[in-house]
Amino acid sequence: MEYIITKKFLSKLKEFLNFSENILIISHQNPDGDAISSSLGLLHFLKKKYKNKKINIIVPNNFHHFLKWLKKSNEIIIFSENETYSIELIKKANLIFCLDFNSMLRTGDLENLIISSKAKKVLIDHHPSPEIEQFDLILSKESASSASEVLYNFIEILGEKKLIDKNIAECIFTGISSDTNSFSVNSNSLTHKIVAEILEIGVDKEKVQKNLFHSFSFNKMKLMAYVLSEKMKIFPKYNLGLISLNAEEKEKFNFEVGDADNFANLPMSIKDIEISAFFTNYKDFIKISFRSMGSFNTNLFARKYFNGGGHKKASGGKSYKNMEETIEDFLFYIKEFLKN
Ligand code: 5GP
Ligand code: MN
Repeated sequence: MEYIITKKFLSKLKEFLNFSENILIISHQNPDGDAISSSLGLLHFLKKKYKNKKINIIVPNNFHHFLKWLKKSNEIIIFSENETYSIELIKKANLIFCLDFNSMLRTGDLENLIISSKAKKVLIDHHPSPEIEQFDLILSKESASSASEVLYNFIEILGEKKLIDKNIAECIFTGISSDTNSFSVNSNSLTHKIVAEILEIGVDKEKVQKNLFHSFSFNKMKLMAYVLSEKMKIFPKYNLGLISLNAEEKEKFNFEVGDADNFANLPMSIKDIEISAFFTNYKDFIKISFRSMGSFNTNLFARKYFNGGGHKKASGGKSYKNMEETIEDFLFYIKEFLKN
């Protein structure tokens, strides 16, 4: 189903909102531009509409400095840094909004706390195949560019478009811009219609673009130069490129969260490269990002071989082997997957 609205969406939603004193907004692990922007957009909206409710955002771990200019981003509670307070808020919550993920598995250390919470759970998302039984209400649109675009639909469904002010519009624009890589992928005419509408509200488009795409640190730039010259491998037979970055290399370049954010896309700037992958060490596993420009379905691939998922053209997965073995496995699976 392309657009999932569970039965009696609007009446149930209004009922949940009315009886909930304590509302939480949560998003996925390693929250990206869309996760943070959609959560903040919803926060601004709910605070404007329900002045007396307690509304908080919790994310599993910290997010990139290039999102910290967004208004109220300093109020976001980072679970890994404030566990006791987060648990207290989760216990008190009557209603939990889940943004930019389709399964509680994606919320890392928050997973069990959220699953066992008695609060009603409302999903606002754009990933395929949501875990329907984990949510009480679902607004999920696979063709949408971003959860931030679906947030616009959510406000529209509530009949509250008139409440969209500069703060909410800025969040929606930032989320869309971030998940579409500045409108180069995953945006359709509907996305652009929404963008046209929210620009009229007065978003400073250039400020957002500058913050998102032109705020690299000198270290990140040097790291990028290093991976491009030393760590990129190309396999023309499969229209494939990959980059790997190990823990020692990260340390050498004083790696900070977000420094490798666009690395998965880099090989696809080469002519005829349509599939790319980026491998890097996390605490106890190797995180892999998959990207595609053609018909290669990264979501199916990540689900089948690397315990992950995502969208058709951008997905992620994990491997518990070492870097060398992981890349070997990856190349083996690519050959197998492309045969079918
Ligand atoms: P990234 O490679 O930028 O981390 O993720 C690309 C897309 O894949 C995002 O939409 C993200 O939510 C999704 N994704 C990343 N890692 C995982 C994973 O381990 N499991 C699932 N199901 N989705 C993932
Ligand atoms: Mn998203």
